Amino acid sequence: MTNHLFDTLRAGQPEGGRVFIATPEGAVFTYADMERRAAQYANALVSLGVKPGDRVALQVEKSVEAIFAYLGTVRAGGVFLPLNTAYTAPEIDYFLGDAEPAVFVCDPAAEATLAPIARARGVAHLFTLDADGKGTLSAAADAAAANFEDVERGPDDLAALLYTSGTTGRSKGAMLTHDNLASNALALVDTWRFGPEDVLIHALPIFHTHGLFVATNVILAAGASMIFLPKFDPEAILRLMGRASVMMGVPTFYTRLLKAPGLTPEAAAKMRLFISGSAPLLADTHREWRARTGHAILERYGMTETGMNTSNPYDGERIAGTVGMPLPGVSLRVVAPDDGTELGAGEIGMIEVRGPNVFKGYWRMPEKTAAEFHDGWFVTGDLGLIGPDGYVQIVGRGKDLVISGGYNVYPKEIESEIDALDGVVESAVIGLPHADFGEGVTAVVVARPDAALDEKAVVAALEGRLARYKLPKRVIFVDDLPRNTMGKVQKNLLREQYKALYA
Ligand code: ATP
Ligand code: MG
Repeated sequence: MTNHLFDTLRAGQPEGGRVFIATPEGAVFTYADMERRAAQYANALVSLGVKPGDRVALQVEKSVEAIFAYLGTVRAGGVFLPLNTAYTAPEIDYFLGDAEPAVFVCDPAAEATLAPIARARGVAHLFTLDADGKGTLSAAADAAAANFEDVERGPDDLAALLYTSGTTGRSKGAMLTHDNLASNALALVDTWRFGPEDVLIHALPIFHTHGLFVATNVILAAGASMIFLPKFDPEAILRLMGRASVMMGVPTFYTRLLKAPGLTPEAAAKMRLFISGSAPLLADTHREWRARTGHAILERYGMTETGMNTSNPYDGERIAGTVGMPLPGVSLRVVAPDDGTELGAGEIGMIEVRGPNVFKGYWRMPEKTAAEFHDGWFVTGDLGLIGPDGYVQIVGRGKDLVISGGYNVYPKEIESEIDALDGVVESAVIGLPHADFGEGVTAVVVARPDAALDEKAVVAALEGRLARYKLPKRVIFVDDLPRNTMGKVQKNLLREQYKALYA
């Protein structure tokens, strides 16, 4: 029977003996292993009574078995629902109540805490799976048959329910269809020139669209391999570069690797491509990486609701500070946030996208879904512009826009000026409640330990470079910016922490 996503991913696969996943310790899983293991998980789920459309939720450590459980869920017609390993018991309670999964899988160490919560939420089947792929779920798969007739699923049927990162508020469940995932995987294989010879360094978590769909689905669709690291580890990555061809990372991977003395042109000589996304890559990082390795990082832009939207070109120029052009099949426009009219090149507005990658809507939030679509286009919530050369630039999130004295202040513009100052590592510009201005422009700055910088020096350096209304009213120095597991700066935490600054 046809199962749109799995058939698409399988179409690119080489003969069964080739490696799909290897671990740094030397364990190897071939494509034949993947077929067999995914079939066993699918059989185990179907024998529990999992029906097409049922959610299968997991909060588990990264493991190869978890990837097989994902593929088994898809083959069984289920809806895969991975949950961030950082979520606490009350958060899991919320997600289980919202998603009502038929099956919930957790780490054995969390079972005592989470099992009563899942039971109270009416989850029928509870299983465990640990970081080594051991637990009651993999034991159920072991006992199941290794052949499976895939459950019929069309392009428009749901394949996954993926919660957004919760950077701007409570996470929303994004309903992703078989074709959302399949079309995006094919577009990326093509754009990034993936082939069966590629070996990807996979150090991302697999509860997020980046590590699960961008990385894993692209590898499957290309019939390529990946080396699965349990977590980001700069030393391990440097060692693996000699036998890999591509790395996908969040910007913090790159800034942290740049601190490793072993990062040299020789270390990166075998690699053909470094990709970055999920958060803005500093132009400085792009430049430093090129100087240290000879490689121009390829930055792309996407989100849970849409998968990937744009990418810098493989062959053309990869421009720092931009996210490139729309992927094949994806359309992107910039509109005026107030009246929705389309803006011309260089004008900042709300980014909207359309294409086979765009999700079906937010889970059980029909009003929110309706509010985020505009004439058939998905309103991303990101502000940006399309340059005269067609390259898209993200200037920040709509929710992070600062309105001071009636003027729009785009944080990215001020952050770029501050980041360019001697002694500054990075910065975050936020708006805080201010009696006169509505919001006061505020800079939170991470300086190098040896930097002789103070508030006055920062403001003085910006005067004459930025219009008066854009100048920070206060500059706060911190050791680190708060970041979530995907390396995204949590401006909502900063706004909360400093909310009384001008009170
Ligand atoms: P929530 O929607 O719950 O607030 P979130 O938007 O952070 O959380 P994700 O879907 O994981 O959840 O992240 C998508 C967002 O990440 C995009 O809307 C964009 O703001 C940001 N992003 C992704 N890639 C880039 C990039 N290359 N440059 C700048 N921002 C990026
Ligand atoms: Mg979002």
